[in-house]
Amino acid sequence: MCMKTASYGKSNIEVFADFDAAPAGMAVLVAVKSGKYDEDNYWVELIPSDWGQAFRFVRHGKFSRKLEWVEPETYEVLVEDSGASCSCKGHARWGHCKHAKVAVLLIEAGAEPK
Ligand SMILES: [Zn+2]
Repeated sequence: MCMKTASYGKSNIEVFADFDAAPAGMAVLVAVKSGKYDEDNYWVELIPSDWGQAFRFVRHGKFSRKLEWVEPETYEVLVEDSGASCSCKGHARWGHCKHAKVAVLLIEAGAEPK
């Protein structure tokens, strides 16, 4: 288990990474807390890539605070020397997102394909 805190916009995100709890093919179980109530869990797979390190983030389905079901979603993240990019709507709109941030933290934590 590994925990990192990183600044994200005006606040922080807390990242919990468990390298032992992931199912076959997945490298890491990640929980990301941002803000007071927003928490998401992901399986993260490291994907071979000719450029930088690529990740597949599979966000678990969950019930929202209003008890509405939120379907699982998959995002692809690529971390290169020039920066990190992600396939999510947030990154397309704002040029950054928490998935890209977390991917960089996972590399710092020693995430390796298995
Ligand atoms: Zn993203």
